[in-house]
Amino acid sequence: MPDHGRMVPHDEALAVVRRMVGEMTVGTEILPVAQAGGRITAEDQLARLDLPPFNKAAMDGYAIPAGEELARFDVVGPTAQAGCDPPAPLGSGQAVKVMTGAPVPEGAVKVIRVEDTREEDRVVTVLKADRDNNICRHGEDVRTGDVILPAGVRLGPIEIANLIACGITAVSVAERVRLAIVSTGDELVDSPERIAPGKIMNANGPMLAALGAKFAFDVVSVATAPDNLDDTVACLRDALAAADIVVLSGGVCVGDYDFVGDAMNVLSLHVHFIRVAVKPGRPLTFASAPGKAVFGLPGNPVSAYLMFHLFVLRSAELISGMDRTREIGIPLGRDHSRRKTERLEYVPCRLTEAGTVEPVTYHGSGHLLAMMQADGFFIMPRGVNAYNAGQIVTFMPVGSSVQ
Ligand code: AMP
Ligand code: MG
Repeated sequence: MPDHGRMVPHDEALAVVRRMVGEMTVGTEILPVAQAGGRITAEDQLARLDLPPFNKAAMDGYAIPAGEELARFDVVGPTAQAGCDPPAPLGSGQAVKVMTGAPVPEGAVKVIRVEDTREEDRVVTVLKADRDNNICRHGEDVRTGDVILPAGVRLGPIEIANLIACGITAVSVAERVRLAIVSTGDELVDSPERIAPGKIMNANGPMLAALGAKFAFDVVSVATAPDNLDDTVACLRDALAAADIVVLSGGVCVGDYDFVGDAMNVLSLHVHFIRVAVKPGRPLTFASAPGKAVFGLPGNPVSAYLMFHLFVLRSAELISGMDRTREIGIPLGRDHSRRKTERLEYVPCRLTEAGTVEPVTYHGSGHLLAMMQADGFFIMPRGVNAYNAGQIVTFMPVGSSVQ
């Protein structure tokens, strides 16, 4: 049984989670690259083409040979346009008119921009020398066989574009981690018509489902359990049957109506810890069954949001072969202090135009609205009670505007 009194430090909690999910795996599948957005590569991806595949004009202009530049050239052959065959090799004193994206002829060392020339009677005069040669050389970006993307990377639009550009049209990716979501609480309703004194809208369920969709989980079920043991057990049992990772929100404290811990015991889950030394988010339960990870997130939405990123997303990525943290050093825009220092604290903050982060107005872990102003959190380690403006803090970008 876990030590109920002890707050487990973040690093230690993460190490426990890492060890448990290290025993879990998901399969792989091959998808058309265009349909693999959000998925995590299962193998290194090797380029199947050189990039660019030929010497390519970067500007509309005239391809000229080596030698005198501010000169006159005979314009030969048809204008080369994007997609055409390479023009015949250039002879000395000759130029070929080329459009952006067209192959340049053999022997061309430079494309003079059309605006720096004058053409008359098939003779072009170069009026101005340009420092840039305006030719993208064959293979200067990528060579066939180069690792264009390693295993364990999440595919976004840029990765998809690069794979396709390098001739890779199908990609082996980790199968989606199946996620089941259970919101607990007698106070929760899902339509404003059912709001009555004491009731609130269930914000966590849809938030967690949206996070699941954003990070390419397979969200297999979304349920709400009232605060009683039988319903909590039933929802958790169904969730376990359907998913690899189960996320509950609420009901994880030791209040009279908190049944998540009891339900985990009824279902013989192995409970690893129930409190972490992180603010917000102290009451975080992590439990496991063979092949399953279960997270009991706090009900307060900001805590649930942070804990999802720190533990649930991290677990799913580890299971899928991806190991990354989202932390960067960035200067703090103004002084910040706190009274209690026994927990690692994640402070909701926004990026400023000055290239700093600043705390947003924030009243605590129920203050969901504050997160709409935030681009993420900066970290105050345990034992630290103040930072001065200009000090470098660790920033974790997680807001909608930065991901
Ligand atoms: P609990 O962790 O169940 O003690 O809940 C802590 C706080 O979070 C309470 O104010 C709850 O009403 C609130 N809360 C719990 N679940 C949700 C939810 N699904 N959506 C929004 N707020 C919630
Ligand atoms: Mg509750």
